[in-house]
Amino acid sequence: MKIGIVGCAGRMGRMVVGEVLATPGCELAGGVEQPGSAAIGGDVAALVGAAPAGLTIGDAAAALFRISDAVIDFTAPAATAAHATLAGGHGTALVTGTTGLAADHQQAIEQAAAKCVVIQAANMSVGINLLLGLTRQVAGILGRDYDIEIVEMHHRHKVDAPSGTALALGAEAAAGRGADLDKVSQRVRDGHTGARKAGDIGFATLRGGNVVGEHSVIFAADGERIELTHKASSRAIFARGAVRAALWSQGKPPGYYTLGDVLGF
Ligand code: NAD
Repeated sequence: MKIGIVGCAGRMGRMVVGEVLATPGCELAGGVEQPGSAAIGGDVAALVGAAPAGLTIGDAAAALFRISDAVIDFTAPAATAAHATLAGGHGTALVTGTTGLAADHQQAIEQAAAKCVVIQAANMSVGINLLLGLTRQVAGILGRDYDIEIVEMHHRHKVDAPSGTALALGAEAAAGRGADLDKVSQRVRDGHTGARKAGDIGFATLRGGNVVGEHSVIFAADGERIELTHKASSRAIFARGAVRAALWSQGKPPGYYTLGDVLGF
């Protein structure tokens, strides 16, 4: 399968280059960067210290979409919207992990999905997407006798709390119980809080060091506790999920898919 990479010189782009080169069944179709990037003119494989692949980094995204079976995109919101339009125009599968999209960017993605396969995930880790699916299932099976608490830890530079992934886990837990997270979420506890309210979903946030990301969903009842935990130690997991999604796209009809679809949840 021929995989192209837009934003190939970015932090995630380089991870994806390495992952495509290392994955059986994948052929690197090429990589592009935005006009003016210092990476233009270099060899794509050289971005990750691999032997030159004879593929020069350019800025012509349209040409890359034309020759690729799938294109992986971790760039920026406006760029991703433009890439979605190109994907739709060429019928090329698009796997995108770019975050922070405004409504018009998201609309461009959804319009493209009428014409090609689009796989979008705000967290491209296979493990996290598995955890999301399991959290919904377990919450549904265990019911309201089990108190749900979500604990996350990230590096000292993270500026938002709880993490977007922790909130997504909370939403899945709430959905599993047929509840609305906005109505049951307990995001801060301090001082004399009173007893825990039945049905609440609590969040606790830890920050420190260089932790890439750790999330636990705790189901606590009288006499037992179940914990589902994911620990990320490398950004390579996001690239691995994206390449898995690209491989999965082969032969699929046009449409909008998530990593949950790729994993069969
Ligand atoms: P980065 O800034 O290191 O890389 C982005 C790259 O895209 C840069 O090299 C930039 O030059 C390039 N780019 C921008 N506009 C372009 C265009 N029009 N054409 C071609 N290339 C273009 O950022 P990053 O850390 O790699 O993250 C990129 C995006 O992916 C962010 O939105 C980030 O939040 C998201 N991200 C998502 C996940 C996930 O799992 N979904 C994981 C990590 C990062």
